[in-house]
Amino acid sequence: MNRRYSKKDIYELLWERSKLCGICGEELDQEWKQYQEWRKNPKLHKRTNINLDIDHKIPKSKLSRGDWLRYISNLQLTHKSCNNKKANN
Ligand SMILES: [Zn+2]
Repeated sequence: MNRRYSKKDIYELLWERSKLCGICGEELDQEWKQYQEWRKNPKLHKRTNINLDIDHKIPKSKLSRGDWLRYISNLQLTHKSCNNKKANN
């Protein structure tokens, strides 16, 4: 499948799949709302202040490119703080 997805689409797709942080399991409602506000008006917040991120369950480098379904199933929405903690471990 060669359809190109933007980062925005990937966020939407992951949000439809799960509204919970893939690491701590808590709801991302608040963070999602901030993200949507930022999307509508990027001057409102700094993106870096929004605690929403995408985690690669398997490190990107170990995945073959071009397999979209596998690529997407490897991603999950997380709190940025949870993802940072994971990265530091
Ligand atoms: Zn979390």
